[in-house]
Amino acid sequence: MTALLEVEGLKKHFVASRSVFGTPTAHVRAVDGVSFSVERGKTLGLVGESGCGKSTVSRLVLRLIEPDAGNIRFEGRDLLAFDTGQLRRFRREAQIIFQDPYASLNPRMTVSQILTEPLALHDLVPPPGRRERVEQLLRLVGLEPRFARRYPHEFSGGQRQRIAIARALAVEPKLIVCDEPVSALDVSIRSQILNLLRDLQDRLGLAYIFVSHDLAVVKHIADRVAVMNLGEIVESAETEALFAAPRHPYSRALLSAIPVPNPRARHGHALLQGEMPSALNPPSGCRFHTRCPYVVERCRVERPQLNGDGHATACHRVDELPPPDLILSADSGFSPALEKLVAAFKAPEAAAAAGVDQAG
Ligand code: SF4
Repeated sequence: MTALLEVEGLKKHFVASRSVFGTPTAHVRAVDGVSFSVERGKTLGLVGESGCGKSTVSRLVLRLIEPDAGNIRFEGRDLLAFDTGQLRRFRREAQIIFQDPYASLNPRMTVSQILTEPLALHDLVPPPGRRERVEQLLRLVGLEPRFARRYPHEFSGGQRQRIAIARALAVEPKLIVCDEPVSALDVSIRSQILNLLRDLQDRLGLAYIFVSHDLAVVKHIADRVAVMNLGEIVESAETEALFAAPRHPYSRALLSAIPVPNPRARHGHALLQGEMPSALNPPSGCRFHTRCPYVVERCRVERPQLNGDGHATACHRVDELPPPDLILSADSGFSPALEKLVAAFKAPEAAAAAGVDQAG
């Protein structure tokens, strides 16, 4: 079956400076030949450091900005060839949730007005039924219908993000781009929003592109992960496979930086060397070569291609690299003392097996 979204060789270079005659003299290579696909009802995590181009990719696939080169197919149709009418229908089928719920909601509109606007714009629900639809949407995202008369400033950050999600759902989309949707929220609220997104995906069959710099968050929600560095995808794999055995040195460094809740756990820190180079003047050959501990001369001159089915990696030396250090997932790694404590609150047999005397 055709993937919901297929992206091939996508490029976007922004003009950074011009001569006095207006001729471009420097470009920021924000996105430079990116390819991936998103299946229906699945989540693709797009991860990398700030400035790697992941947010530009998310805007390109929604045609909020136009690419310089490449192909984008939505349900098998050429998105870049859509006429005005087709693009208008596409705006219903693909939505975006932004990082900052404070900035993405109009402070002068009530929640009811915010949610009614897309219904009216796309003529989805006749006026008499809109109030009921707004109440349905609020319930869908875990908010009470009585909140419809309130303004955004009357809500917490997590509630505001729920309203933003409800607004995206109002037009019954097939794809939602989530651009760092939990980064601005308290840690305690993040998991609630992530669980809500997963629940909505199960119920409505939504596909997500989940853009984040936080691998621990992506691990929680993505089915597949693409790691970006300086406008390129350097590794792409199923989430389990990538976290269990990352192949690219950049992915290994990012994963080793995830905090582990166990001070005694063995954790290999493959720290990144130096600063991330500028996308204005990216390094020749492999763009990671200025920070890579395994660099050889070939890396400085020849750009590696993203090779491999399923688990693809862009590295000349992927078959020669040592196995990754032990990398623990963010939700594993109890210390022996904590394991005993946890066992003490379990069944007596389990506690005995862990060596805990429950009589005390
Ligand atoms: Fe490192 Fe060379 Fe592989 Fe790039 S191609 S990640 S510089 S070993």
